[in-house]
Amino acid sequence: MPKLDPNSDEFRAAGHRLVDWAADYLDGIEQYDVLSRVQPGDIEQQFAATAPDDGRPYDALITDFAKKIVPGITHWNHPAFFAYFSITGSQAGILAELLTAVINANGMVWRTSPSLTELETVTMRWLRDALGLPSNLFGIINDTASINSFLGLAAAREALGLDIRMQGMTGRDLPPLRVYCSEHAHSSIEKAALALGFGVKGVVKIASDENYRMLPEALEEAIARDRAAGALPCAVVATLGTTSTASVDPLPRIGEIAEREKLWLHVDAAYAGSAMIVPELRAMWNGIERADSIVVNPHKWMFTPIDCSVLFTRHPEVLRTAFAVAEVPAYLTLTDSAEVNYMDYGLQLGRRFRALKLWMIFEHYGVERLRNVIREQIGFASRLAEELQQREGIELLAPASFSVVVFRVVREDEAASERATMELIEKMNESGQLFVSHTRLRGHYGIRVAIGNGATEWKHVAQILTHIDER
Ligand code: PLP
Repeated sequence: MPKLDPNSDEFRAAGHRLVDWAADYLDGIEQYDVLSRVQPGDIEQQFAATAPDDGRPYDALITDFAKKIVPGITHWNHPAFFAYFSITGSQAGILAELLTAVINANGMVWRTSPSLTELETVTMRWLRDALGLPSNLFGIINDTASINSFLGLAAAREALGLDIRMQGMTGRDLPPLRVYCSEHAHSSIEKAALALGFGVKGVVKIASDENYRMLPEALEEAIARDRAAGALPCAVVATLGTTSTASVDPLPRIGEIAEREKLWLHVDAAYAGSAMIVPELRAMWNGIERADSIVVNPHKWMFTPIDCSVLFTRHPEVLRTAFAVAEVPAYLTLTDSAEVNYMDYGLQLGRRFRALKLWMIFEHYGVERLRNVIREQIGFASRLAEELQQREGIELLAPASFSVVVFRVVREDEAASERATMELIEKMNESGQLFVSHTRLRGHYGIRVAIGNGATEWKHVAQILTHIDER
């Protein structure tokens, strides 16, 4: 019987070609339209209905990849990708992904690849310290902020002391549980709460001020109202860098309330957390020492290819209690006394070697270079906001925050403003030169620009102004 890969000759040749393709792609990325222009089904219809019985050489596949698949790619690595929060890949991160696949280690437990576990411990310490976070935090890498917020809230539920881990939530007399977050919190908080049995009604959305920051007084009132009605407040989620405007909830006040009310404080810093490597921004973190769990996504703003999201907690033992299996199956029992087996701190057993990306990025660029890129991008956003404010018929919908700017076109009434704003978005995105996304704030439809690609220069951002001026 033939082996799957008889030797590495074909692999080596194709690998060289692919690395060349990747370097050419990154060097020439601006020749592509940022937003893919294909229609639904265009990509699918190019492929056979069933998998081929006989294989083809890599050369033919590389050609097909460029011809059939690349047209359906929206180019997240493009320096004028300003939509959502960019996934800021970097060359160091790409190389680490290659090595991760080559090694193909699964860090289920320490012995299944000691380097995987121990490099995760090292890079979690590096990241924690680089972000100026308290030294008592334990960190773990998972795929996304959605999963990490789920884990943080699972720990919050465990910390209630209701023995939900052993007894579950059904068939017993439990009070309704409540999680509080701002009306601008990311939808992943609601999903986490749903999966944990809090129910849609268990998520209490707190009103925000004129700059989209949670109102602490409204939080206090909601907690008091719920307690009076017999519900059990469990956790409060503060967001540092909300999705629509990158606003920052008032952490010190929210932290005080959480402490007084004995609520778990979860901080969603999925996007803006990375910016805390810049020391002069650290005042935004004031009060973070009260956080029981914190999410930061290096794959949003620390030049790490997707996926890489980090959960920090000062209560690893609670997280562990929530997720360590009651009886370790025989095939997983351990004889080594490793300090940490990450499988005990979440749902998944199998674990990708994501720490390799962080290690490569920290080592190759150094923290100072990362800081400077983030500083520059925040500077681009402030400059864009200033320029926009000087333009007739353009209105900022929120103060520029971190690297996010939200604005709209103003016309005689709301409907005309919305139409003109949509037309401007379409014009920009159809040009292929850049990609922006939209949001809605207090009824106003707005254009949302988030800068975060490692290759972005002012000239890329300035295209937004050119499109406005040439309307
Ligand atoms: N939290 C915030 C503030 C976000 O903006 C996002 C996504 O944009 C998320 C969480 C969810 O991130 P992920 O895609 O890693 O689950």
